[in-house]
Amino acid sequence: MNVIFLGPPGAGKGTQAVRVCERLGIPQISTGDILRAAMKAETPVGLEAKSYVEKGLLVPDSVVINIVRDRLQQDDCKNGYILDGFPRTVAQAEALSAFADIQAVVDIEVADDVLVNRLSGRRVCPACGATYHTANLAGREDCEKCGAKLIRRKDDEPETVLSRLTVYHDQTAPLIAYYTEKGILHAIDGTQPMEECTKAVLAVLDADK
Ligand code: AMP
Repeated sequence: MNVIFLGPPGAGKGTQAVRVCERLGIPQISTGDILRAAMKAETPVGLEAKSYVEKGLLVPDSVVINIVRDRLQQDDCKNGYILDGFPRTVAQAEALSAFADIQAVVDIEVADDVLVNRLSGRRVCPACGATYHTANLAGREDCEKCGAKLIRRKDDEPETVLSRLTVYHDQTAPLIAYYTEKGILHAIDGTQPMEECTKAVLAVLDADK
């Protein structure tokens, strides 16, 4: 099954994608993760992406479209995949339709005030990728899983969070109407507890049997 996870930054797309992918045995393809890895490795794509990502702006369509086109050709995508964070513009969705057959789009909905709180309090482990919120850390500064010192993503700084939300409403939210029109959009309440949210996603994908 080929699925898109749509939703604003901080809605829990990544967390839910990991859980659903594990359950379905298909890969999670996160353009944000791919871009961050390229930035860390200072590849040409990473160097180009850096200034956009750090300001909370979208990387040019052509760059991300090429990344996803190449990634979907790999063997592990044969039995399906979840696209997490792509497409983010109607142009990306149009390009995707030329090389992928998408069966379902899961739109994880969360209000802006909740998102600002979630993103500003988010801490990530630079070593293993685990994600936390300051509200649950009780002052801890290291990763429970691997012990590395937790960091705040540069694009989770409060002012960048606001520009990411503006970008989402201007450029990505139109995809809700785009995929509703195609009859494959499923809206999920992203404020429910994590496990409930996963159950709801599996149910709309008809994978909860
Ligand atoms: P994410 O981890 O999905 O929140 O993505 C982090 C950042 O990577 C975004 O704020 C963008 O700067 C960039 N990015 C990720 N996916 C895309 C995409 N599909 N199109 C353009 N930029 C993207």
